[in-house]
Amino acid sequence: MSDSVPNKITLEQSEIPRAWYNVIPDLPAPPPPPLHPGTHQPIGPDDLAPLFPMDLIMQEVTTERFVEIPDEVRDVYGLWRPTPLHRAHRLEQALGTPAKIYYKYEGVSPAGSHKPNTAVPQAFYNAKAGVKRLTTETGAGQWGSALSFACAQFGLDLDVWQVAASFTQKPYRASMIRTWGANIHSSPSELTAAGRAILEADPNSPGSLGIAISEAVEMAVQDEDTKYALGSVLNHVLLHQTVIGEEALLQFAKIGQTPDVIVGCTGGGSNFGGLFFPFLREKLAGNINPRIVAVEPAACPSLTQGEYRYDFGDTAGMTPLVKMHTLGHDFVPDPIHAGGLRYHGMAPLISHMYELDLFEAVAIGQEECFESAVRFARTEGIVPAPEPTHAIAQAVREALACKESGEEKVILTALCGHGHFDMAAYDAYFDGQIVDHDHPAEEIAAAMARVPQIAN
Ligand SMILES: *Cc1c(COP(=O)(O)O)cnc(C)c1O
Repeated sequence: MSDSVPNKITLEQSEIPRAWYNVIPDLPAPPPPPLHPGTHQPIGPDDLAPLFPMDLIMQEVTTERFVEIPDEVRDVYGLWRPTPLHRAHRLEQALGTPAKIYYKYEGVSPAGSHKPNTAVPQAFYNAKAGVKRLTTETGAGQWGSALSFACAQFGLDLDVWQVAASFTQKPYRASMIRTWGANIHSSPSELTAAGRAILEADPNSPGSLGIAISEAVEMAVQDEDTKYALGSVLNHVLLHQTVIGEEALLQFAKIGQTPDVIVGCTGGGSNFGGLFFPFLREKLAGNINPRIVAVEPAACPSLTQGEYRYDFGDTAGMTPLVKMHTLGHDFVPDPIHAGGLRYHGMAPLISHMYELDLFEAVAIGQEECFESAVRFARTEGIVPAPEPTHAIAQAVREALACKESGEEKVILTALCGHGHFDMAAYDAYFDGQIVDHDHPAEEIAAAMARVPQIAN
């Protein structure tokens, strides 16, 4: 191999971080507050109480830089954390690049992605508050399965609304969700007013994350013992995901290197934020200077094509208004295979940081993504989930640019999940059936016309 760094850099269980990192106090300006959908005034913790337990609401608004990870959560993390940092020696050789490519592999978790990093603490704090049941939405099924696993750890019931397109494309995620004990419903469903309204307009609706969120929220607010859980987008979710970046910092320290480029895929922004926030802290402190790049699908380009303004987090307009890069809350993205990236908005915190020029963003079509993913699988062995194929495609672009320039850059990406439940997407690629649903400009313009007008 080209240098002495091993294929896999591991940590001991005792090195699981003891605190999550909150990036907000280190930013030059705080993100704009969420607004009440009726009054358009900033909401307070009490407004969120029907949906979330107070511990999580406090994490949503905390100004502390570090939040201690409870022992009960660290203990469950220990089932699969710390996750390995891999050096992609074989991919580098195949590309003929002088770049050093690293990937932090989150697919070793029980659910096969980074989602349990937040599912576990969310289930823990709900159980601690005496909540009996959670509701949630899921796209590709990654979040639903992660939360089903987490609820089983802490004795909570769970109902999951899965986006119809993924429910049909990926039946085994639903089986996994049921194995860990949750109930699953295809969304839109007849069980909620929001679902029935969508089905009336379009009986064959492929669903969207926005619609599924409306259904899960509607069910949660009706029952005192039921709360709602979200797998991305919110500050507390991004906070929990920083275990990824904290471990990666430690792993890079062990090999005496630092990344020059950090690349992550963005659906709601949680695996990307979880990876780069701790590195950004070191960058803002003047210790390192990586370029940071978000990669989104060309079919759902909220950062690169969306507007930065107040919009609803869900399709039916039941959530608070949040300032974010949005394609319009009722924009329904084409059913690309990366179901976890089919969200109309972006985390308000990530959106705010994009406005502050703290990172760059690119949109890539799915054909190039699968091409890079197959190259990755044939060299590194791991079959990536369709979402991180976007990050891999950009890492490959960066590595090929290094081949041109002769630069030996250190590239870091998050391989945030494996694709064992997504093999139909790979079949579609091999059969030449992957199409690039590029530039849905008209649909975006139509959806943006229905975004509420808010003065600020
Ligand atoms: C959910 C998911 C995503 C998208 O969510 P983020 O919050 O942007 O991380 C990406 N990859 C995988 C594997 C997922 O499960």
